Amino acid sequence: MPGDGPGPFRFDAVAPSDQEQQFRYEVDGSSLGDPVEVPVTVINGDADGPRVFMTAAIHGDELNGVKVLQEVIDRYHPSDVHGTLVCLHVVNVPGYQAQQRYLPIYDQDLNRSFPGKERSNTAERMTHRIYQRFVSQCDIGLDFHTSTRNRTTMYHARADVDDPDVQRLADAFGANVFLAGEGDERSLRGVATRDGIPTPTVEMGKAHRFQPALIEKALGGVESVLTEDDVLPDGTTTTPAWRKVMGPSEETRWLRADTGGLVDMQWGPDPLVHEGDAICTITDHFKHEEHVVDAPFTVLIVGVLENPVALPGHPICHLVRIDVDTREEIERQISQGEFDGYRSYGQRWMADDEAAE
Ligand SMILES: [Zn+2]
Repeated sequence: MPGDGPGPFRFDAVAPSDQEQQFRYEVDGSSLGDPVEVPVTVINGDADGPRVFMTAAIHGDELNGVKVLQEVIDRYHPSDVHGTLVCLHVVNVPGYQAQQRYLPIYDQDLNRSFPGKERSNTAERMTHRIYQRFVSQCDIGLDFHTSTRNRTTMYHARADVDDPDVQRLADAFGANVFLAGEGDERSLRGVATRDGIPTPTVEMGKAHRFQPALIEKALGGVESVLTEDDVLPDGTTTTPAWRKVMGPSEETRWLRADTGGLVDMQWGPDPLVHEGDAICTITDHFKHEEHVVDAPFTVLIVGVLENPVALPGHPICHLVRIDVDTREEIERQISQGEFDGYRSYGQRWMADDEAAE
C-alpha cells in the first residue's frame, strides 16, 4: 500500500520534517550474529508532498546507481523538497561487500524475491524488511541497475508503460530508449507497480564501474521525475530529442554467435548500425576462418557482451529494430554529438575496460 498521504516518513520511528536523517537499517543478521545493515538517507522536505524511494545495488556489483544516490543526497536538501526522498544506497549489502550480483553462497537474487517473507531464507527476509519499512510507505520509486558483468547496456529505462502512472513517470525520466513490459513478477519494480507505487527501473552501463556520463544523465532523469511530481518546485525537466519504446518481444532480439571463436566488434562509435553493415567478426584461433555478422535490419545496439571469447549460440549483442523516422532522428542526434558520451562504453572491446569512464 502506498503511504497514506503527505506527512512525515515512518520507518520505525517518525522522521522529523525539515530534516535529513542518515542511518543504517538492520535487514537481517550474519552467521556470526552481526547485523546486516542497509545505509539509508531520508530527506524530509519542509513542505508536504509525495514520498519517493530510490534503490541501488539490489544486484551487489551494479555500482552506477550507488553513485547516483550519493549525488542525489548531496544535491537536495529539506528546503528544496516538497515531500520525502528515501534513498537506500546499497540494498544487497552482502553482495556489495563481495562485489557480486547475487547474495553470496546461495546465489539468491534479491530482485526475484520481492515482496519477501518474514520467516524464510536470507533473500526473502531482507526484501520483506525493505519492502515493508520503506518501499510500501512511498508513492513512487526509481530502481537503479546496470548490465550484468561482462556485458554493457545502453542507458535505458524499463517500465510497465501500459500503466498510465508509470508511463507518466517514465516519460518524465526522459530516457531515449524504453523497454516496455511488466518485468518479473517478483522484481522490485513489478511488485511495487502492482501495489500502486509506480516504479521504473533505470539500466545504465556496466557492473563494477562508475561511468560519469551515465551518472550525470541519470541525475538529470531524477531531477526531471521529481520536478514532474512537484517534489522539486524549482527543478528542471528533461525532454529527450527522440524516444524509442521497445515492445515486449517483436522489435528486440539478442544476436547470437553461430560459431565459437574470438569476437572483434566492428560497430561504433555510435550505436546505430544500418542493415547489412558489419556488427562484428568471429574468427577461429588459427585465423583461418572469419565469420562476419551483419545487422539483419537497421538496429540500435542497446546491449553488448564484453567478454570477447564467444561460445556457439551465446548472445553477442542486444538489438532493437529502428524504423525510418527514429533512424533519421538518431542520425541527426549523432551529427550533433548527442552520442559522444556513449563512445567510451559502447565502442570496442579492446579500448573498453580502460576507457575514460
Ligand atoms: Zn540489476
